[in-house]
Amino acid sequence: MKHSEYLIAKPSKGSAGQTGLWRSFRPVYHVERCIRCLLCCFYCPEDVIEVHYHRFILFHYEYCKGCGICASICPEDAIEMVEEEE
Ligand code: SF4
Ligand code: SF4
Repeated sequence: MKHSEYLIAKPSKGSAGQTGLWRSFRPVYHVERCIRCLLCCFYCPEDVIEVHYHRFILFHYEYCKGCGICASICPEDAIEMVEEEE
C-alpha cells in the first residue's frame, strides 16, 4: 500500500503564509499521550495539522504560526508548546 493511502487528513498552507521565520513557539507532539480525538486538527486556525494512520499527527512547521490553540484544546496534554530556540 502506498504512503498516500494512509493519509487521513491533509493540511493546507494556512492563511498566514510561511511562518517558520518569525514563529516564537512550536507545537511538539507526544504520541504516547494522544487518544486520537482529532480536536487539534479541527481547531487549528491554519489547518496545518496532517493526520496519518501510523504516526498520526504531523505539524507542517513551515506554515504553523505557533498560536498554541492545538495545545490548549488537547484534552490529554499531548501537545507541548516549546520555544523555537530549544
Ligand atoms: S500552533 Fe497549533 S493550532 Fe496554532 S497554527 Fe500551529 S498547529 Fe495550528
Ligand atoms: S487533541 Fe491531543 S489527544 Fe486529540 S488528536 Fe490532537 S494530540 Fe491527540
